Amino acid sequence: MSQTDFLPTGPELTVVVPVYNEEEGLAALFSRLYPALDALGATYEVIFINDGSRDKSAALLAQQFRARPDTTRVILLNGNYGQHMAILAGFEQSRGECVITLDADLQNPPEEIAKLLEKMREGYDYVGTIRQQRQDSFWRKKASRLMNRLRERITRIRMTDQGCMLRGYSRHIIDTINRCGEINTFIPALAYTFAQNPIEIDVAHEERFAGESKYSLYSLIRLNFDLVTGFSVVPLQWLSFIGVILSVGSAGLFLLLLVRRFMFGAEVEGVFTLFAITFFMLGVIIFALGLLGEYIGRIYQQVRARPRYLVQTILEERDGKPARTMPRQEAVAAISREVDPL
Ligand code: UDP
Ligand code: MG
Repeated sequence: MSQTDFLPTGPELTVVVPVYNEEEGLAALFSRLYPALDALGATYEVIFINDGSRDKSAALLAQQFRARPDTTRVILLNGNYGQHMAILAGFEQSRGECVITLDADLQNPPEEIAKLLEKMREGYDYVGTIRQQRQDSFWRKKASRLMNRLRERITRIRMTDQGCMLRGYSRHIIDTINRCGEINTFIPALAYTFAQNPIEIDVAHEERFAGESKYSLYSLIRLNFDLVTGFSVVPLQWLSFIGVILSVGSAGLFLLLLVRRFMFGAEVEGVFTLFAITFFMLGVIIFALGLLGEYIGRIYQQVRARPRYLVQTILEERDGKPARTMPRQEAVAAISREVDPL
């Protein structure tokens, strides 16, 4: 049972903002975010998560909390755990029916939240976003396009722009994510696997208001590894395939050499035969590695302990009458979406 089950009914919207060394931009963020939210005509809360900043970010957040205690909550983490972990910490504390994640650097304009909320009110439980005229360095855009394409091939997750973190999730998705206990994860992808009615919309993108990107090349590579290994065991299967292809190829070479041996006699004193045998053994070893990897992949999936499936509705007989039962979190989602699953 998630923590939220014990809390009183929350606001309509929670905005989750991870913050890491953003002191230069926070004032501008507050001055744009709160008016944008006030204009929505929705009850809301903003949760800032300070991800172990070493500058004055924590103090600025505390100051903002004192200025708007009714709608602001601040979580201070004791170290730097990364953007996705910080967001997970925010999810655990969130109470809203819709939860929207936003970066603190104003690259995603807070004014765009209205568009996302509108879609969620229409009944979509996952609102993905596509950045229009993305304002990032050339190499980042190229690398992102490559990673997007790779992910499309090796996972069942369908997103146009996986890197955009301005996204909306409904309460049932957040409750499910909170049950997961993932360590290295990629939130947009994880949420997508639990979405029943996803949609993508275009949003504007701006240059960073102040400071620099908090992602080094190394942390970007690590993040993409989280994405690939967290949602696919296809790379392990590639290993087995390479092993099989190599073995079959070298067995063919061996046969060819055998035929030539009878036709033309010994060539280069049997060196090629030795090669064929060596390649065959290499193939067997790589295949064995892939096979081991398959088992490790299954162990990995097991220990990750994600929910194996999500029940939307159960049709059954109650008191002699046909009835429809819904698990709690799906019931809330369905009511808020006003979607009849039958
Ligand atoms: N962030 C964080 N912890 C980190 C790195 C980043 O909480 O270890 C936050 C950061 O403060 C910002 C958001 O995550 O609000 C996105 O970071 P950034 O803008 O540097 O990423 P980019 O836009 O370059 O992908
Ligand atoms: Mg940014």
